[in-house]
Amino acid sequence: MRYAILSDIHGNLESLQRALAIVAPDDIVVSLGDVVGYGPNPNECIAILRERARHAVLGNHDLAAVENFGVENFNRAARAAIGWTQGVLDQASRSWLNLLPYELRFPDFLLVHGAPVSYFEYILDKDAAARAFERTDAPIVFVGHTHIAEYWVRDAEGAIGHRHMQQGGELEFEEGKRYIVDVGSVGQPRDLNPRASFAIYEPERRRVEWTRYEYPIDEVQAKMRAAHMPSYLIERLRVGR
Ligand code: ZN
Repeated sequence: MRYAILSDIHGNLESLQRALAIVAPDDIVVSLGDVVGYGPNPNECIAILRERARHAVLGNHDLAAVENFGVENFNRAARAAIGWTQGVLDQASRSWLNLLPYELRFPDFLLVHGAPVSYFEYILDKDAAARAFERTDAPIVFVGHTHIAEYWVRDAEGAIGHRHMQQGGELEFEEGKRYIVDVGSVGQPRDLNPRASFAIYEPERRRVEWTRYEYPIDEVQAKMRAAHMPSYLIERLRVGR
């Protein structure tokens, strides 16, 4: 059994399609939130996930799109994009987003958008990772939110380790350690690698592998230009930040 764990798709249909072309037909597809916001195809991305995703949790942009939640904390470009998204979201998409849970707990792992309990907190350093580990007893926590492919590890003494997975790669879980795995972003990578990211989790083999893959960035950018999205959001796809 394998899980294909995708996060921060952000309305980027071309990248989602490429990701699902890599995923095996019997892989269990998981979405860690922020299906919408920034990108030009929110309804199309949701329609695909409604069919293909077995498990999905809520992201901050998803909540902002349906309830305007937290928009006052968004920067100008993000606010413009969420306003555009609110204008185009259809009823089926809104209904699907409305029913997403903040977290999904399984015996061996936890799914949240940003961090356990404080669901939209960014884990950006060892202190934040240490606090996040203390708020859960899950052996493995899968997150997105930062758009950075990386992981945090906590050993039995509480020491925190960290590694970026900017070029993809694999992690084998060790006995007695706990992990926070950030799968990176399908729709808007921010770790200076414009290739999109997701992760494959194989519970029986106790391993995770990050995949970085190309998608037609220029096609997405052309759609964003046609939708009059802020140029900052359009250009960042090319540089991955
Ligand atoms: Zn996001």
